[in-house]
Parts: sequence; C-alpha cells; structure tokens
Amino acid sequence: MSHEVLVLNSDYEPLNVCNMKRAISLMFLGKVDVLHTNSAIIHTISGSFDLPSVVRLRRHVRRPMPELRLSRRSIFARDNYTCQYCGHTSKELTIDHVIPKRLGGATTWDNLVCCCRKCNTKKGDKSLQKVCFTLKRLPRRPKYVPFISLTKYLDGARNTIWRDYLPIFDDVPAQQQAINEEGN
Ligand SMILES: [Zn+2]
Repeated sequence: MSHEVLVLNSDYEPLNVCNMKRAISLMFLGKVDVLHTNSAIIHTISGSFDLPSVVRLRRHVRRPMPELRLSRRSIFARDNYTCQYCGHTSKELTIDHVIPKRLGGATTWDNLVCCCRKCNTKKGDKSLQKVCFTLKRLPRRPKYVPFISLTKYLDGARNTIWRDYLPIFDDVPAQQQAINEEGN
C-alpha cells in the first residue's frame, strides 16, 4: 500500500491509484500537489523529500460518471462481503435471489444479495417468509460509484490517510467495515 498513491481530481474526487514512479513524475511536472506523504523519504540529486501518499491534480480532469456493472463482485462489494441474512462476514460467499427466480425474481440490484453458504442452503429457492429470514438492509443500486476499481477502493478504505478522501460507497455501515478490517 505504501508504494501506491491515491490521485484525486482538483475537486478531491478520487480518480485513480497509481504507482510511486508515476506519482513522482506528476510531482516533478508540476501537475499535482501533495496532500499527504507517507513515512518514507527518497533521496535524489536535487535533495530529499517525503514520498507522496495522496496527491491532487492542479487541473480538473473531466470524467463521465462510471457505469457500475451488475456482477457478483459488485454485489459483494455493495454488501461489504457480509451475508445479508445472518450478518456473517466471510470470504466464502455466494449470491442469492431474494425473491427466487422460480417465483419470478429478477436478476437486478434490488433482488440480489450477498449470502453465506449456510443461509443459502437453508433458503434454497424459497421465499423470505417461508424460511423466516429478514434482510439486514434493502438491496438497491449503489448511489455512489467510485472511479477507482472496487477492489482498490475497498483496500484504500483501510488506509487511514486515504480513508478521509474516499466517499462512502453507498452506505456501508462503519460497524460492518470495522468487522471486515478485523477479519483481515
Ligand atoms: Zn448467512
């Protein structure tokens, strides 16, 4: 993580995560301001300086809003790798149709949830009422879509310096995020 640099747009929107070499060249070209450094120092012919951790572009880069494709990975990320029935956080997760396909349930943001194997087996293709399951929260399409990849975004959210610059992805409860951190 310390060799990666978070790049923000001029309006502080996270744009990218780049490597140190690229970040240093942006610094020397005068294209970015360094907002945070990490503890490492680099020595060059012209002197020594702290390595950047977060940089901000001086000129605004226009970017269209990214499209977030419905995928297993994006459902896992939205639900913070937490079973939406029992609240269990696990790496061994699956995707469940809340209203089963058999009963006309669609493959959409608001009908798919992250589910642990145990709950998945118990639920099978039955309705919530039948198995007496309740949802931790109603599934829906995330409102905020990060420019940076979900994996990088979730990793970045664990970096104490970067966290402040990363808008909250949908409304992942802070408590769940903490559980996730402990599990790693
Ligand atoms: Zn479960």
